[in-house]
Amino acid sequence: MYTVEQNKKLIEKFPYLMPINLWTLEPVKDFEFDYIRGDHELPEGFMRCFLLYCKAIRPGLIEADFIDKFKFSQIKEKYNRLVMYNCGYPEAIDDFEGIYSRLSYHICQICGKPATVESQGWLASYCDDCIKQFRDQERWEPIEPDFTLRYQRYNKETDKFGDFEVDCLPAWEEYLKCVEMSDEEFINYLLED
Ligand SMILES: [Zn+2]
Repeated sequence: MYTVEQNKKLIEKFPYLMPINLWTLEPVKDFEFDYIRGDHELPEGFMRCFLLYCKAIRPGLIEADFIDKFKFSQIKEKYNRLVMYNCGYPEAIDDFEGIYSRLSYHICQICGKPATVESQGWLASYCDDCIKQFRDQERWEPIEPDFTLRYQRYNKETDKFGDFEVDCLPAWEEYLKCVEMSDEEFINYLLED
Protein backbone atom coordinates (compact mmCIF):
# COMPACT_ATOMS: atom_id res chain seq x y z
CA MET A 1 0.00 0.00 0.00
CA TYR A 2 1.31 3.39 -0.99
CA THR A 3 0.72 6.85 0.51
CA VAL A 4 -2.20 9.09 -0.45
CA GLU A 5 0.20 11.36 -2.34
CA GLN A 6 1.70 8.44 -4.24
CA ASN A 7 -1.76 7.05 -5.06
CA LYS A 8 -2.84 10.43 -6.44
CA LYS A 9 0.17 10.58 -8.75
CA LEU A 10 -0.34 6.99 -9.91
CA ILE A 11 -4.03 7.54 -10.68
CA GLU A 12 -3.25 10.74 -12.55
CA LYS A 13 -0.78 8.89 -14.76
CA PHE A 14 -2.80 5.67 -15.03
CA PRO A 15 -6.50 6.63 -14.73
CA TYR A 16 -7.50 2.96 -14.76
CA LEU A 17 -6.02 2.61 -11.25
CA MET A 18 -8.97 4.65 -9.94
CA PRO A 19 -11.24 2.38 -7.87
CA ILE A 20 -14.66 2.10 -9.53
CA ASN A 21 -18.11 0.95 -8.57
CA LEU A 22 -18.40 -2.28 -10.51
CA TRP A 23 -22.12 -1.82 -11.18
CA THR A 24 -21.98 1.72 -12.55
CA LEU A 25 -18.28 1.75 -13.62
CA GLU A 26 -18.10 5.23 -12.10
CA PRO A 27 -15.34 6.23 -9.66
CA VAL A 28 -16.21 5.22 -6.08
CA LYS A 29 -17.92 7.99 -4.10
CA ASP A 30 -16.03 9.99 -1.47
CA PHE A 31 -12.77 8.34 -2.48
CA GLU A 32 -9.84 9.51 -0.38
CA PHE A 33 -6.95 8.09 -2.42
CA ASP A 34 -6.12 5.64 0.36
CA TYR A 35 -5.81 2.75 -2.12
CA ILE A 36 -5.62 2.00 -5.85
CA ARG A 37 -6.89 -0.86 -8.02
CA GLY A 38 -4.96 -4.01 -7.18
CA ASP A 39 -4.80 -3.22 -3.44
CA HIS A 40 -7.28 -5.55 -1.66
CA GLU A 41 -7.58 -7.49 -4.94
CA LEU A 42 -4.15 -9.07 -5.38
CA PRO A 43 -1.60 -10.86 -3.22
CA GLU A 44 0.90 -8.21 -2.11
CA GLY A 45 3.69 -9.90 -4.09
CA PHE A 46 1.84 -9.42 -7.41
CA MET A 47 1.41 -5.66 -7.02
CA ARG A 48 4.58 -4.52 -8.82
CA CYS A 49 3.95 -6.92 -11.66
CA PHE A 50 0.45 -5.49 -12.02
CA LEU A 51 1.73 -1.90 -11.95
CA LEU A 52 4.33 -2.67 -14.61
CA TYR A 53 1.49 -4.02 -16.74
CA CYS A 54 -0.30 -0.69 -16.20
CA LYS A 55 2.82 1.13 -17.41
CA ALA A 56 3.28 -1.19 -20.40
CA ILE A 57 -0.21 -0.66 -21.80
CA ARG A 58 -0.21 3.13 -21.42
CA PRO A 59 1.42 4.06 -24.79
CA GLY A 60 -0.98 1.78 -26.71
CA LEU A 61 -3.96 3.23 -24.86
CA ILE A 62 -2.87 6.80 -25.59
CA GLU A 63 -2.29 6.02 -29.26
CA ALA A 64 -5.77 4.50 -29.56
CA ASP A 65 -7.29 7.45 -27.66
CA PHE A 66 -8.44 4.98 -25.01
CA ILE A 67 -6.59 6.18 -21.92
CA ASP A 68 -9.71 7.59 -20.23
CA LYS A 69 -11.99 4.78 -21.41
CA PHE A 70 -9.97 1.77 -20.27
CA LYS A 71 -11.33 0.17 -17.08
CA PHE A 72 -10.61 -3.04 -15.21
CA SER A 73 -13.73 -4.98 -14.34
CA GLN A 74 -11.75 -7.42 -12.20
CA ILE A 75 -8.16 -8.00 -11.09
CA LYS A 76 -7.28 -11.14 -9.21
CA GLU A 77 -5.00 -14.07 -8.59
CA LYS A 78 -6.35 -17.22 -10.22
CA TYR A 79 -4.53 -20.57 -10.32
CA ASN A 80 -1.34 -18.77 -9.27
CA ARG A 81 -1.52 -16.23 -12.07
CA LEU A 82 -2.22 -12.53 -12.23
CA VAL A 83 -5.52 -12.20 -14.12
CA MET A 84 -7.04 -8.95 -15.32
CA TYR A 85 -10.43 -8.52 -16.92
CA ASN A 86 -11.45 -5.24 -18.52
CA CYS A 87 -14.43 -3.57 -20.14
CA GLY A 88 -12.99 -3.44 -23.65
CA TYR A 89 -9.54 -2.57 -25.00
CA PRO A 90 -7.76 -1.56 -28.22
CA GLU A 91 -5.88 -4.20 -30.23
CA ALA A 92 -2.53 -2.48 -29.56
CA ILE A 93 -2.38 -3.80 -25.98
CA ASP A 94 -3.44 -7.34 -26.91
CA ASP A 95 -0.31 -9.26 -25.81
CA PHE A 96 0.39 -7.56 -22.50
CA GLU A 97 -2.15 -9.35 -20.31
CA GLY A 98 -0.61 -12.68 -21.33
CA ILE A 99 2.95 -11.47 -20.79
CA TYR A 100 2.40 -10.18 -17.25
CA SER A 101 0.23 -13.12 -16.35
CA ARG A 102 3.12 -15.41 -17.37
CA LEU A 103 5.60 -13.38 -15.32
CA SER A 104 3.39 -13.65 -12.25
CA TYR A 105 3.86 -17.43 -12.09
CA HIS A 106 7.57 -16.74 -11.46
CA ILE A 107 6.89 -14.26 -8.66
CA CYS A 108 6.59 -14.93 -4.91
CA GLN A 109 3.01 -14.07 -3.92
CA ILE A 110 4.14 -12.87 -0.50
CA CYS A 111 7.17 -10.64 -1.18
CA GLY A 112 7.43 -10.27 -4.97
CA LYS A 113 10.93 -11.74 -5.27
CA PRO A 114 11.63 -14.32 -7.99
CA ALA A 115 9.92 -17.55 -6.98
CA THR A 116 11.65 -20.91 -6.86
CA VAL A 117 8.84 -23.29 -5.86
CA GLU A 118 5.12 -23.67 -6.41
CA SER A 119 3.01 -25.18 -3.65
CA GLN A 120 0.60 -27.87 -4.89
CA GLY A 121 -3.05 -28.19 -3.97
CA TRP A 122 -3.49 -24.48 -3.26
CA LEU A 123 -1.31 -23.26 -6.14
CA ALA A 124 1.02 -20.45 -5.17
CA SER A 125 4.60 -19.49 -6.01
CA TYR A 126 7.08 -18.67 -3.27
CA CYS A 127 10.71 -17.59 -3.00
CA ASP A 128 13.28 -19.54 -0.98
CA ASP A 129 12.67 -17.40 2.11
CA CYS A 130 8.88 -17.33 2.13
CA ILE A 131 8.44 -21.07 1.47
CA LYS A 132 10.18 -21.82 4.80
CA GLN A 133 6.97 -21.14 6.73
CA PHE A 134 5.03 -23.69 4.66
CA ARG A 135 7.63 -26.22 3.64
CA ASP A 136 6.54 -28.82 6.20
CA GLN A 137 2.79 -28.65 5.52
CA GLU A 138 2.74 -28.26 1.75
CA ARG A 139 3.64 -30.34 -1.22
CA TRP A 140 5.62 -28.24 -3.63
CA GLU A 141 7.35 -28.44 -7.01
CA PRO A 142 10.33 -26.47 -8.32
CA ILE A 143 9.41 -23.74 -10.80
CA GLU A 144 10.69 -24.32 -14.31
CA PRO A 145 11.57 -20.92 -15.79
CA ASP A 146 9.62 -20.45 -18.99
CA PHE A 147 9.34 -16.98 -20.43
CA THR A 148 7.78 -17.78 -23.77
CA LEU A 149 4.11 -17.04 -24.14
CA ARG A 150 2.43 -19.34 -26.66
CA TYR A 151 -1.08 -18.95 -27.90
CA GLN A 152 -3.32 -19.20 -30.92
CA ARG A 153 -4.44 -16.13 -32.75
CA TYR A 154 -6.44 -15.37 -35.84
CA ASN A 155 -4.23 -14.40 -38.76
CA LYS A 156 -5.97 -12.01 -41.15
CA GLU A 157 -3.64 -12.79 -44.07
CA THR A 158 -4.13 -16.55 -44.04
CA ASP A 159 -7.66 -16.40 -42.61
CA LYS A 160 -6.68 -19.13 -40.14
CA PHE A 161 -5.84 -19.51 -36.48
CA GLY A 162 -2.10 -19.91 -36.07
CA ASP A 163 0.46 -20.37 -33.30
CA PHE A 164 2.08 -17.23 -31.96
CA GLU A 165 4.99 -16.86 -29.55
CA VAL A 166 5.89 -13.84 -27.48
CA ASP A 167 9.22 -13.53 -25.69
CA CYS A 168 8.52 -12.33 -22.13
CA LEU A 169 12.19 -12.10 -21.10
CA PRO A 170 12.56 -8.33 -21.65
CA ALA A 171 9.55 -7.76 -19.38
CA TRP A 172 11.03 -10.16 -16.79
CA GLU A 173 14.38 -8.34 -16.84
CA GLU A 174 12.56 -5.06 -16.24
CA TYR A 175 10.67 -6.70 -13.38
CA LEU A 176 13.90 -7.96 -11.75
CA LYS A 177 15.28 -4.43 -11.83
CA CYS A 178 12.11 -3.02 -10.27
CA VAL A 179 11.78 -5.57 -7.49
CA GLU A 180 15.07 -4.33 -6.01
CA MET A 181 13.82 -0.73 -5.80
CA SER A 182 12.35 1.05 -2.76
CA ASP A 183 8.66 2.03 -3.03
CA GLU A 184 9.65 5.59 -3.84
CA GLU A 185 12.15 4.60 -6.54
CA PHE A 186 9.62 2.23 -8.06
CA ILE A 187 6.87 4.86 -8.19
CA ASN A 188 9.26 7.36 -9.77
CA TYR A 189 10.11 4.73 -12.35
CA LEU A 190 6.42 4.21 -13.14
CA LEU A 191 5.84 7.95 -13.46
CA GLU A 192 8.85 8.80 -15.63
CA ASP A 193 8.53 9.65 -19.37
ZN1 LIG B 1 9.00 -14.33 -0.93
